Amino acid sequence: MRKLTILGATGSIGSSTLKVIEQNPDKFSIVALAAGNNVDKMRQLCQTWQPKYAVMADEQAARELKSQLSQLNINTRVRAGVDAMCEISSFDEVDTVMAAIVGAAGLLPTMAAVKAGKRVLLANKEALVMSGQLFIDAVEQYSAELLPVDSEHNAIFQCLPGEIQTKLGRCNLEQQGISHILLTGSGGPFRYSEIETLNGVTPEQAIAHPNWSMGPKISVDSATMMNKGLEYIEAKWLFNTSREQLKVLIHPQSVIHSMVQYRDGSVLAQMGEPDMATPIALTLSYPERVSAGVAPLDFTQVGELTFLEPDFSRYPCLKLAIDACYEGQHATTLLNAANEIAVEAFLNRRLKFTDIAVVNEQVINKLCASVHQSHCTDLDSILELDRMARELAINAISERKL
Ligand code: NDP
Repeated sequence: MRKLTILGATGSIGSSTLKVIEQNPDKFSIVALAAGNNVDKMRQLCQTWQPKYAVMADEQAARELKSQLSQLNINTRVRAGVDAMCEISSFDEVDTVMAAIVGAAGLLPTMAAVKAGKRVLLANKEALVMSGQLFIDAVEQYSAELLPVDSEHNAIFQCLPGEIQTKLGRCNLEQQGISHILLTGSGGPFRYSEIETLNGVTPEQAIAHPNWSMGPKISVDSATMMNKGLEYIEAKWLFNTSREQLKVLIHPQSVIHSMVQYRDGSVLAQMGEPDMATPIALTLSYPERVSAGVAPLDFTQVGELTFLEPDFSRYPCLKLAIDACYEGQHATTLLNAANEIAVEAFLNRRLKFTDIAVVNEQVINKLCASVHQSHCTDLDSILELDRMARELAINAISERKL
């Protein structure tokens, strides 16, 4: 039986993970759950799952949770803060960690799981985008087992030859006869909108993704295609791709979740309903397959499958991310941080949708003039770059008017 810590248990990926576990109670058990500040949801999860530990990022939320659980006579031990999250990610009694905190807040707990040599189910792409080579080196050094949850990377993983599935970060695609990795994306809710209308987009419109149900930050990132940009960087690290090997394709129906193209002309695609339970189930049970509670794809209902080249004038954030990927580790860390601040400001109606890209570009241009790849030597220096970019993004936002 696999014993789990779920980081980001109250979120969209956390909920889908628990649904898969519910389907397979004899295969998985919960040791610890962690979240930010959603006390009500965490209390419900503790009532249902009775974890040994629950950690809230926020001290006040942890106090509130502790008091509610004691009134209910639930014995879960409640802790607060990032150090406690790192501890529950590295406990001996835990063998598997679902890394599903949103954003940079996931970096330290996810790295703690890697350094403890756990099976790490990586949903928190921002952790890899920020720390890149350090993350991949730590996976090797501490013999962690890294499995991608992101549906595209999970699809690519499934289409790779078995012998390199266990070598993520160190794959030699050329040696395996692979010519290209085709990273697909739906294009989000505004793929057919007039570009001139995008500056009036509201948060409600941006988070209404046509195919996937996800948390607010990744939904906005999907609408700007920054999500595909972050995934591009994630794919580069996971599959060790060159610029020529990695391509982005818009596929509005989200039936194919990504593809691997081989030298002989063969293309392997992974398909399914757009439901995160499928990739989550694979990472939980790999190399076996368990039930994910997902309906089988009905090909008679699928209709047409279409593919388009991404248009960078519609999706400037995608271009920024691809450029940052080749600029270096410092650039991807800075971009990720600026984007988190810009997306939050957009969700709080303090920034226009189209200004997300403007703020991101300003931060990157300004800081890349003085910061270099050589500044990313350890997690502390990465967190310092993250802090600098956030500060600059906050200033850039305050200078812009809605
Ligand atoms: P949600 O917004 O739905 O959930 C985020 C989770 O992170 C919540 O449990 C939240 O807790 C927790 N959290 C927020 N801040 C902190 C913090 N400082 N410390 C600890 N926990 C925190 O996001 P998603 O589930 O959609 O996404 C999670 C990650 O998975 C992201 O990195 C995303 O890119 C990735 N991902 C998501 C997919 C999806 O379909 N949703 C698909 C592929 C990848 P609280 O509720 O208390 O705020």
